[in-house]
Amino acid sequence: MKIKKIYFVFSLVLFLFSAVSCVDEPTYEVESVLDDYLQRFLNEGALRGKTFNLEKQGIILKFGDLDADVAGICYYEDPIRILIDQAYWDKISKSANAEDLRENLVFHELGHGLLDRRHINDYLPNGDWKSIMCGGTEKDNRSWNINFRSIRRSYYLDELFNPSTPTPYWATKVFDGSVTEMPIIEDDFTTSLNWPTGNTTKYSASIESGLYTFENKSTEGTFVVVNIPLQTSSDFYMESSFKIQDESVNTQCGLLFGNAESPVSVNYFSINNNKRMFVGHNHCFGWYTELLKAGLFAQNFNTIGLRKIGQDIYYYINGECVYCDQLSINKQGTIYGFEVAGSCTLVVDYFKVYSNTLRSASLVKTAVVEPITATPKAVWGNK
Ligand SMILES: [Zn+2]
Repeated sequence: MKIKKIYFVFSLVLFLFSAVSCVDEPTYEVESVLDDYLQRFLNEGALRGKTFNLEKQGIILKFGDLDADVAGICYYEDPIRILIDQAYWDKISKSANAEDLRENLVFHELGHGLLDRRHINDYLPNGDWKSIMCGGTEKDNRSWNINFRSIRRSYYLDELFNPSTPTPYWATKVFDGSVTEMPIIEDDFTTSLNWPTGNTTKYSASIESGLYTFENKSTEGTFVVVNIPLQTSSDFYMESSFKIQDESVNTQCGLLFGNAESPVSVNYFSINNNKRMFVGHNHCFGWYTELLKAGLFAQNFNTIGLRKIGQDIYYYINGECVYCDQLSINKQGTIYGFEVAGSCTLVVDYFKVYSNTLRSASLVKTAVVEPITATPKAVWGNK
């Protein structure tokens, strides 16, 4: 009898427990730091006619410890479970473009989880990733870095919520204005005294036979620049023809402009011998974008140009305007020159700067600036 009674009570408890679990609320577990981005996603969705009932459907959005190259992951469970790699999050949070990177990452995972979007690794006409849903299986051995900034953000958010969003105007934009700049520096390296030369522990550099050769002995990247009394806030055009001498096809060298005060702040446009171009800022995590450019010559001289008009930057490869984006960081300064990767030699045929505002070359008095150590670049994690 006693046993029967106990059994009855036990059954009742079991029954009540299962009855309660039937009406249990779905799990809603969102880390407070990540909730800001979830709310932002919901707001952006609402602006585009997409609404969600997460109270009803539940969601888990937390930090986790993911594999080394994985930034975030979405599990198609009930409810949707998203993990963001804590170490990656901490790393990107120190960079000048932290907000763009964090938003891009969380929105990508929510794109999987709440919009049921899968990876799409297509390109826009200018070579940019078409969608922030890029990821997963590697394509063209290309990094996942995406130029998700300033005016571009609205397109990528439109595309996130509606994959049929038309191609944005900036993906086909080229410079079509009239060229009005006048030369202020035309250095063909016959008599130039403005660049670092000599043999030190960090570099070996010389000007001979119309070429400037800079060998970076350090394993770290270096900025080799001239100081010109032309503020980077003004409009200008700079151009150089150079060759990267290095066994690695991934070595990046290119043009830069910016401010030499510590911490040195430069925007750069670099290339490599694998026919890739990169644009970015040295305070940002990695480059804004990596683009495949067939017009580049591997292991040979390339002519690289950069035109700044207001906040717009136009990029040129061997005479063709191949890309356009907007400055988002431009600490006004007066340095112009080259980025030279670690343990690499750059051979420069010429270097020119043209200006709209500075009309006379005689105004320009450059001084030799010692090479400046560059901070290492990073590749975005997969997601
Ligand atoms: Zn993904």
